[in-house]
Amino acid sequence: MTTFATSPVIIGDGAMPAAREYIVQNFGVSDGVLAVCDTNTEPIAKSVFGTTERYVFPGDAIADPELAAPLEERAAAKKLLVAVGAGTIHDLVRYTAHKLGLPFISLPTAPSVDGFVSGVAAMTVGGQKITFEAVPPLALFAEPSIFMSAPPELVAAGVGDMLGKYISLFDWKVSSVVTGERFDGDIYMLERDALEKVVSSEPGSPDFGVLLMRALVASGLAMQAYGSSRPASGSEHHLSHLWEMHCINEPVSALHGEKVGVATLILLALYREIERPVLRKNIYEREYLLPVFGRLTDGIIRENLPDPLDGITQQRLDMLASELQKEISSLPEPGLLKSFMNACGCKQTIASIELPTEPDFLFKTLEFAPYVRRRVTMLKLCRIC
Ligand SMILES: [Zn+2]
Repeated sequence: MTTFATSPVIIGDGAMPAAREYIVQNFGVSDGVLAVCDTNTEPIAKSVFGTTERYVFPGDAIADPELAAPLEERAAAKKLLVAVGAGTIHDLVRYTAHKLGLPFISLPTAPSVDGFVSGVAAMTVGGQKITFEAVPPLALFAEPSIFMSAPPELVAAGVGDMLGKYISLFDWKVSSVVTGERFDGDIYMLERDALEKVVSSEPGSPDFGVLLMRALVASGLAMQAYGSSRPASGSEHHLSHLWEMHCINEPVSALHGEKVGVATLILLALYREIERPVLRKNIYEREYLLPVFGRLTDGIIRENLPDPLDGITQQRLDMLASELQKEISSLPEPGLLKSFMNACGCKQTIASIELPTEPDFLFKTLEFAPYVRRRVTMLKLCRIC
């Protein structure tokens, strides 16, 4: 049985009293505790922890190490940090906790992302998303009366992040078949079960929010167990990361999960059309990447080398064609996903997340997204458009 770094994980009625009890039992008096929230989640921090000291970020804060610096100062004398918020607050807290060598616990206030129990912090440095080594929370407590009152767009974003697993699991399987990348059947099933529980549930039903939160946390635990985001992040996240780097587009206000949801629909349609996988040529030359990635180019080249597709030939793809085709035909129809996304209020088109609608933009997205990470995906491996 897999043991997780985050334990206990309590999602259900009574999670907040359990959190208070956990803190008293393990960390004693409350003056060693700092609750970290933003102006949106401050009322929740107040109602759960009363007079416990709080650090409050602005409601529109981004996970920028510069923003974390004053928190680091306030947290230095503490014994425990408590993240009371959604994804950004968790990244700021886990980044700071790691820097100070402090433990933290997670109190997610919205089922919006799957990174609550993640061991890495996704920070934005000078407009670029950079993953920093950090610590996962010691424990997670999620109270339905709190996270089910989250704004509907945060819930829809959580659905988008979860649906992306169709692509990330597919990409992982494809890479394991073609490159022999490490694959773990138990972790695959943990992630797959989480995804299936969400898509087989009824959006808007009383227990939908709880199911979604459970699935998102399970996805985070799958990443924890594997030791990287591999099970939960493939080319759908690479599209989203590329858009977040603002190399081919202006910044947009869409949430992470909204972008992942739109990317998932784009890739599903294209992946399902692959008849014969044709090896793609990835070009790691400065002149080719510079016009798109600008000052980020050298970092992009470093990220990608040594080329993970070295030694992979068209002959190998042809040899594996039937195995790959089996995986392709297991992908769901985009139409089915769209009706589920409709029911959840998810954004589904490039235009709905305020990105350019010209065909050239989509072409550029598909051409350059595979360079964002070294990770092998079907998009990095094959020509799909
Ligand atoms: Zn995500």
